[in-house]
Amino acid sequence: MMAFDVSEAERPVTAQDTAQDTAQDMAVSLESSLRHQTPQRILRAALGAFGDRIALVSSFGAESAVLLHMLSQIAPDTPVLFLDTGMQFGQTLDYRKQLAERLGLTDVRDLRPAFRDLAVTDPSGTLWKTDVDACCRLRKVVPLEQALEGFDAWITGRKRFQAITRAGLPVVERNQDKIKVNPLANWTKADLDAYAAEHDLPPHPLVRFGYPSIGCWPCTRPVENDEDARAGRWAGSEKTECGIHTPTAAELNAPSRPFDDIGEGL
Ligand code: SF4
Repeated sequence: MMAFDVSEAERPVTAQDTAQDTAQDMAVSLESSLRHQTPQRILRAALGAFGDRIALVSSFGAESAVLLHMLSQIAPDTPVLFLDTGMQFGQTLDYRKQLAERLGLTDVRDLRPAFRDLAVTDPSGTLWKTDVDACCRLRKVVPLEQALEGFDAWITGRKRFQAITRAGLPVVERNQDKIKVNPLANWTKADLDAYAAEHDLPPHPLVRFGYPSIGCWPCTRPVENDEDARAGRWAGSEKTECGIHTPTAAELNAPSRPFDDIGEGL
């Protein structure tokens, strides 16, 4: 007797499938109309399209001030989600507070891993030594997934020049059943520096100590001049992303572009 095999084509269409299809159509449409626009226009369009159903996710890292400043000029009450993993540098926590105050951002939310999850999965706080993927899932991926349940879209500060895994980054993309908007995707390091200088934005305090990309302290080291900006993240391991920004096949297959020497992000 033949085994009953439900192929992908025969599988019932679920509400999740429909939501993903809707998000995909919207992402394609927005990407087509916004891919050559300025970051400010992209931000305005995204905020206009999603209203109170969109949040900005920021690491308050090396270059975060640029996008946060743009947001503060358009809609300072937009929710800003910050992953307070319990492993951030003290300088990052100070910077998050000072920058939010200076820019007048009124809804910065600190996302923390649940006490219960920490007690079960990482009671000694040393999971990063043995399993970085599990640690990132516990401290970043799960808290962000839960926080994003109330939103249809989110904004990131990723740029193409940051790393080869981000070379094909679109301005608008689908992430499961949500839309992800990357207003700075097209910008270069020179663009960011010029904007920061024009608006007198304070840099993250660790940048001058050789940290062009800043994450949790156990998994971040300074980089040498000839290294990729994100070379100091999970250095010595194969890991390049925390799991929040897993590159799509299109991103990985895109032709590489010249890189500058700085990057930031989660
Ligand atoms: S970056 Fe390191 S310390 Fe931070 S959540 Fe990931 S593995 Fe843990």
